[in-house]
Amino acid sequence: MTPGFTGGPLDRADRLRHDAEAVAALARRPDARLLRLGPGYEPQPEGDRLGWGPVEDGTLVFLGLDGGVPCFAAVPEDGMAGSFRSPSLMAALAGLAPGEAATWAAARSVVDWHVRHGFCARCGEATAVIRAGWARRCPRCTAEHFPRTDPVVIMVAEHEGRALLGRQASWPAGRYSALAGFVEPGESVEEAVAREVWEEAGVRVTDVRYVASQPWPFPSQLMIACLARAESDALTVDRTELEDAIWVSRDQVRAVLAGEAGPFVPPPAYAIAHTLLNAWANG
Ligand SMILES: [Zn+2]
Repeated sequence: MTPGFTGGPLDRADRLRHDAEAVAALARRPDARLLRLGPGYEPQPEGDRLGWGPVEDGTLVFLGLDGGVPCFAAVPEDGMAGSFRSPSLMAALAGLAPGEAATWAAARSVVDWHVRHGFCARCGEATAVIRAGWARRCPRCTAEHFPRTDPVVIMVAEHEGRALLGRQASWPAGRYSALAGFVEPGESVEEAVAREVWEEAGVRVTDVRYVASQPWPFPSQLMIACLARAESDALTVDRTELEDAIWVSRDQVRAVLAGEAGPFVPPPAYAIAHTLLNAWANG
């Protein structure tokens, strides 16, 4: 199964981004379209497709070409309040055709980055949009700033046929998922996996293997899903990070992923933890 928020249809057309006149001409084309976003960046679907409208004046991000059709998103003048994952947002995303959520995710991340990064991190001056919305430049110190992507490792450690899962206190009742944490400066993916499992569950792991990745636009993470081998099943749970941690068997994971009752409620299908658990349970 393809991870959520991947498989977008747009050609990002990076070759055009440096040419401001060419991008402005694309925006004036009668077939050019603007992604419609509601409060909290909610998509405004038409059926199972994203909703689009005519391009209007304003600060634009050139999302790319969809079969040659120029696609844009607008940075809201009033700095939209970026509400998080509301139930209505997740319901709207769940109803989209494959690939549509990927286009939305890219737009949501980069538009929200503009909203939150209007000033130079080096000197504090207000910065200007460049590269068709894919960077900002400071007019005072000339520093260029690029949209953030923050790497997060998310992993399932296995010990003798059982997988380690954890839950946070804020999650829906019964939900357990893969452990996860931000990659820190100076760390490899493998080192981040080993550190996070040790910190959160007190388990040493080796043999870290990459499985898949997905963008996670809340606001701009890149989730890097891995499997690892645990040296022991003795848990020392960090209660500031996790409410609980458990070991579950392949049969238990297969059952709950198939919608049957089991010892835990699995992560939702759009989360890469679901993809990861499926990969682990079904080989
Ligand atoms: Zn500056």
